[in-house]
Amino acid sequence: MESRSQIDRRRLLSGAAALGGLAGLAGCATGASSVKVFSGGDVRVGAALAPIRASLDRLFDVTVCLRPFRAAGPRIEAEQVGDALVVHNYGHGGSGWSLSWGSGEVAVRLAMAFSPAEVAVIGCGALGLTAATLAQRAGARVTIYARDAPPDTRSARATGAFTPDSRIALASKVAPGFPAQWEQMARISFKSFRNYLGLPGAPVEFNDRYYLSDPTSGAAPASEPPSSLDFASYGQAIRDIVPRPVLLPPGATPFASRYVSRSTALMFNIADYAHTLMTDFLIAGGRFERREFHAPSEIAALPQKVVINCPGYGARALWKDESIVPVRGQIAWLMPQPEVDYGVYFGEMGVLARRDGIVLQMFDGGDMRGYGDDNETVDMAEAKTAVSRVAEVYARFGKG
Ligand SMILES: Cc1cc2nc3c(=O)[nH]c(=O)nc-3n(C[C@H](O)[C@H](O)[C@H](O)COP(=O)(O)OP(=O)(O)OC[C@H]3O[C@@H](n4cnc5c(N)ncnc54)[C@H](O)[C@@H]3O)c2cc1C
Repeated sequence: MESRSQIDRRRLLSGAAALGGLAGLAGCATGASSVKVFSGGDVRVGAALAPIRASLDRLFDVTVCLRPFRAAGPRIEAEQVGDALVVHNYGHGGSGWSLSWGSGEVAVRLAMAFSPAEVAVIGCGALGLTAATLAQRAGARVTIYARDAPPDTRSARATGAFTPDSRIALASKVAPGFPAQWEQMARISFKSFRNYLGLPGAPVEFNDRYYLSDPTSGAAPASEPPSSLDFASYGQAIRDIVPRPVLLPPGATPFASRYVSRSTALMFNIADYAHTLMTDFLIAGGRFERREFHAPSEIAALPQKVVINCPGYGARALWKDESIVPVRGQIAWLMPQPEVDYGVYFGEMGVLARRDGIVLQMFDGGDMRGYGDDNETVDMAEAKTAVSRVAEVYARFGKG
């Protein structure tokens, strides 16, 4: 789950507005244009949902990571550094996992233009692992060089939702061709995730998301939190591949909220997904070498003369790329509950029940939350607030 506003809010509000009287209705997934009203047959009314046991003694971890945001969107282009061709593939904001396959395809096409036998990949996060896999599939022998491997990369601390336009760019700062390139990358990625559905360990799966809303009056829905920046929103372009949310009839779920809508979306169980990617890469003959680089000249000195550069936020220091802005995000982790297989969004909170933990994230402040903040220290007070917000919802669970 990403920034609540980025995932749903804009479209949620437009969806709610489209429904007129249903002011305050929460919900819809990336790319959905509006909220469908339940028409019978397309929802499991009364579906049994297990409650989340939200209490501080079940909080087993709190993690922080930085989104590598660039106003112009990710840097995917080739550069000659000494005698090495370096293809950059970094700066994917809050969309790194979601766009990784599509972005990797663009990068690997550039890298394979001269059919190199050997390719180096810098970085072992979402972008490095997928680019390395694609370069292997394109026929190269691939070595990943990185300071960290999963589970120590920043990617390993992401939410694990398909959010391909989450803090991906500023609408006013992208090149004219970027929206079309984004759409292509999002579609390629979405299709590529199918390769990881139904596998042992469930690296990737679809699950339901519930959106709760409790308007205090019949007035218009709450407005978007003020944002001084025009974060791009491209979800409409892929609305045909993501299910629209459905407004459920009262009493259809145990949630006590007045309005509950539901959609279905991709989820990445990142512990298993990153492990699967790494294992598959090694089984296919890939090499991993732990190494830290301090200057582009060290990369140019590698034996491989074609390099795909995926250092994420690390590009700011390594490539002196000050166009990368850190956007801090924190996750509070509740112990996994295998019986809970859904996500729930309410107020300024998002909760996603993954196999490797139940992810709690606060969205107060919208897309500007954490913008420009490179502090990776845990904020325990925030984590406790997140748990108590979830506990409040489940205190009313089944009492609607
Ligand atoms: C709270 C939060 C939630 C998120 N949720 C989602 C989500 O649900 N869905 C989604 O799609 N995205 C999400 N994101 C965004 C996503 O996590 C990032 O876009 C993604 O992790 C970027 O991946 P990366 O591979 O570019 O970078 P990283 O994961 O940071 O990997 C960089 C790699 O490069 C290596 N490296 C860096 N510098 C050097 C150096 N100097 N020398 C050697 N190696 C180096 C690192 O060791 C690492 O291996 C979220 C982000 C945050 C903060």
